[in-house]
Amino acid sequence: MMSDKALDILPGQVVHDETVAAKAPWAHSLLKGQALRIVDLEGNQAVDFLAYNLHDDSERYSAQDTIAAQRNVYLTTGSVLLSNEGTPMMTVTGGSVDRHDTIGGACSCESNTLRYGHHTRAQHACVENFLIGNSPFGGDSRDLVPNINWFMNVPVEADGMLGIVDGISAPGLYVDIRAEMDIRIVVSNCPQINNPCNGFNPTPVRMIISG
Ligand SMILES: [Zn+2]
Repeated sequence: MMSDKALDILPGQVVHDETVAAKAPWAHSLLKGQALRIVDLEGNQAVDFLAYNLHDDSERYSAQDTIAAQRNVYLTTGSVLLSNEGTPMMTVTGGSVDRHDTIGGACSCESNTLRYGHHTRAQHACVENFLIGNSPFGGDSRDLVPNINWFMNVPVEADGMLGIVDGISAPGLYVDIRAEMDIRIVVSNCPQINNPCNGFNPTPVRMIISG
């Protein structure tokens, strides 16, 4: 039998294993102590990600609190992802990509139009995916806050400028995250085709929950 390398060294039993299609939204709950492995199946795919307290979604991931507490703008192994109440929601426990972004934000039809021209107005974007992913839970645009971009390479240059450049991920690389409270996560498998964040070619990712 072929071994499935994506299932190597997972904590506990696999309770959910799903491939999210290119450009698609995805939402799932994660109980305290459960682990999520996100596998960048074909490489160079940004995975836009939000998290909410499962029991009170006014508490949600806070990029500002997370960056301030760890005194670093990049997310990497050991990063503790804090809520807007300063409570640990998740910990990055490992993975095979050096760093991830939480300042580049999510693409939208509006920002695409501004950056890439009016002909991109009808292209699907992460903001729409977040709205679709949140809608079964009663969420709307007020629930969209600065997000995480797993696998996305947004270097901060010496002068403080942000780049959106070619990814540092590759096929089969992954990130491991552990839930520190019961959470609901909403993902946009980024549909962007106008900059290198997805290598100009959005591709599927795999979500494996264990514990
Ligand atoms: Zn996007």
